[in-house]
Amino acid sequence: MFKSVLVLGHFRGIRIEVHVSWLIIFTLLLVTMSAGLQHHYPDWSVTASVLTALITALVFFSSIVAHELGHSLVAIRRGVPVKSITLFIFGGVAQMTADTQRANDEFWIAIAGPLVSFALALIFGLLSLLTVNWYEPIPVALGWLALINLVVAIFNLVPGFPLDGGRVFRALVWKFTGDARKGIEAAVAGGRLVAYTLFALGLWNILFVGNLIGGLWIMLIAWFLFNMAQSQGRMYDLRERMSGVLARDLADPQVPVVAPDTPIDDWIHRQVLPTGQRSFLVGDTDHALGLVTISDARKVPQEQWPETPVADVMTPADQLAHVTAGASAEDILHLMSERNLNQIPVMERGRVSGWIDRNQLLRTINLHMEVKR
Ligand SMILES: [Zn+2]
Repeated sequence: MFKSVLVLGHFRGIRIEVHVSWLIIFTLLLVTMSAGLQHHYPDWSVTASVLTALITALVFFSSIVAHELGHSLVAIRRGVPVKSITLFIFGGVAQMTADTQRANDEFWIAIAGPLVSFALALIFGLLSLLTVNWYEPIPVALGWLALINLVVAIFNLVPGFPLDGGRVFRALVWKFTGDARKGIEAAVAGGRLVAYTLFALGLWNILFVGNLIGGLWIMLIAWFLFNMAQSQGRMYDLRERMSGVLARDLADPQVPVVAPDTPIDDWIHRQVLPTGQRSFLVGDTDHALGLVTISDARKVPQEQWPETPVADVMTPADQLAHVTAGASAEDILHLMSERNLNQIPVMERGRVSGWIDRNQLLRTINLHMEVKR
């Protein structure tokens, strides 16, 4: 199967990976930088230009990883778990599995990345000054790295989602109003403003500067930022509204059950069709043997349904995805969408206490969205 990410390694439990789209930006950077170096330093050999571009690009992307590690390590220290760091076409992103509970945590996690980039800019800048009389590609590359890290630091401080500045802005509004949701709204609004501004800048480049490719690229980034601002806002909003809602609040205690020796045919006609339930627990709630769904039934030809017991096609209990009563709504939703599940049992030591249906869960979430204004 085609995989869209390449795992580079692990650091303190954080998976560091590269998304395929990153190859586009890497190639683009490599080509433009090699060409730029050849243009500005005609006395360099082609090999020197290409090698300098390659090494510089790799160090630049390591700087992006360092920036994301800045966020991640502060997050971990403040109790927010980080799953992965992914490099993709528009930069890097650290995947945190929970939201911060305090404005201060949000502030320090958000600011840590730009601070790392500023520090790197300073270090590369100093090194380029110290090596100014060395073999020319060295101070040139170091100077470029100082500049690009400075640009990354400053651009990320723009106060709108999905940029770090958006999270800093959110934290500050949160801190001063005492209202986490006001912070989210402010950061989404900031993000939209940034996207509109960039969009206008791209259009201006195309119409008045004649820079078609550059303009389109800026507009593409604007579009990406706009979507990210929206979805980040929605995600934060959902987390905020669903915080404290657990599996035990969401589960339906009426668990549909089928005996293991029931033939598929009987199960379909006596239980599935009359109730509209697509999946059933096999065994009983005190001792679950497995779970059977309509798609399991379709694994055997319909002629064999009368003599095949559901136990033959079910997913056995030990391979069953389940959640505990204390699992958060967000984790449940995440697990269900990740594994493409429509129903999930709430299970503790083989005992099933309830049943969560994806549609029901989404309806409950919407209800929470409407009630908690
Ligand atoms: Zn960042």
